[in-house]
Amino acid sequence: MTTFSADRSYAQELDAADQLAPFRDRFVRQDRELIYLDGNSLGPLPVRTQARIAEVVDQDWGVGLVRSWDRWIQLPRQAGDMLGEHLLGAVPGQVIVCDSVTVNLYKLAWAAVDARPGRDVVITDDDNFPTDRYVLQGMAAQRGCELRVIHTDMDNGISEEALAEALDDRVALVALSHVAYRSGGLADMTKLTDLIHRAGALVLWDLCHSVGAVPVELDASGADLAVGCTYKYVNAGPGAPGFLYVREDLQALLCQPIWGWFGQHDQFAMGPRYDPAPGIDSFLTGTPNIIGSVAVEEGARLLGEAGLAALRAKSIELTSYLIALADEWLMSLGFMIASPRDAARRGGHVTLRHDDAWPISQALIRANVVGDYRTPDRLRLAPVPLTTSFTEVFDAMDRLREVAATKSYADVPLEPHRVT
Ligand SMILES: *Cc1c(COP(=O)(O)O)cnc(C)c1O
Repeated sequence: MTTFSADRSYAQELDAADQLAPFRDRFVRQDRELIYLDGNSLGPLPVRTQARIAEVVDQDWGVGLVRSWDRWIQLPRQAGDMLGEHLLGAVPGQVIVCDSVTVNLYKLAWAAVDARPGRDVVITDDDNFPTDRYVLQGMAAQRGCELRVIHTDMDNGISEEALAEALDDRVALVALSHVAYRSGGLADMTKLTDLIHRAGALVLWDLCHSVGAVPVELDASGADLAVGCTYKYVNAGPGAPGFLYVREDLQALLCQPIWGWFGQHDQFAMGPRYDPAPGIDSFLTGTPNIIGSVAVEEGARLLGEAGLAALRAKSIELTSYLIALADEWLMSLGFMIASPRDAARRGGHVTLRHDDAWPISQALIRANVVGDYRTPDRLRLAPVPLTTSFTEVFDAMDRLREVAATKSYADVPLEPHRVT
């Protein structure tokens, strides 16, 4: 590869050499002018998913009606195994697609604390995603256990030292995000899992910002439990179901707190008492979202076809290129890099800090570049390897420079919208 230059022709050279470029056409792109750098919030729509959803609605539902349940009933397992194989490094029978991340977190956290009798402390960190912190606060209040919150630097991700200091023989569970939602800081799953295990606790990894973006090796890392969403890098659409992972040898030991009929052994016997199904099925609750689960399968299949190693390699090139352009153009305009500079410690997005991050994010949307704003003063940009070109990164950064240099955002109301 030629060496970096802040010239558009350099981006065009990188695009010409990009093996993943043909995947751009596998996505619906109605507006070819739009530069979409928010696939870490809501992934774009794959063409095949659009067709498959139409088929499920028109044929399976429209014609097959209730008879289609004979096939649909397999979907949570089938989609889970597909995620496990292509994206999570998990052998079949350990991942299941169901519920939201929030609900899955609650189920697994509760079951994990039960599985460590005599221990009454749960650890998380102060920069973890809000729903994770709230669910754990709620559980701690309901169970009368202690929630120990360690400090994480907002721009760098989890500190191994802070975690080591907080661990002791009262700790039942540590719940952490693998990739930090704000900075994109990537934790060393194997190392932290080992540290947590040495203290006798279980670990629950939130993979929302890592699944489909960075290689995840759940089995090889020795992780106990994990949850994640499918509407970000997996491109399964708004409100598509989440997934959960329970390592095989823990499945018989853990009992989740929501005793629904989909987790029941011999579900259609309609028996009088709850008797959990063996294996990962016991972590289901109620009727699964079929249209969403089908989209999870298609999303995982598409990422699997591209291959996670190739995706990660391009993602690192994209984010490194974005940072190089930011260094070249933006530092004199009041920006700072608020993500790890070491690519090995960074997930799929780059965060920039600026006092006027909110109005800048809005002016950027007017310039046809969609990223997003995160509190308190951060702009997140996610160049996603399947859909983003290097030329788009160049153009986006060029427009960001223009917006900041000319203060074209001065007319944007200062109060952020309800959804940012
Ligand atoms: C997006 C995200 C969630 C979302 O949870 P839902 O229940 O799907 O709304 C949770 N945790 C993290 C780390 C996220 O990035």
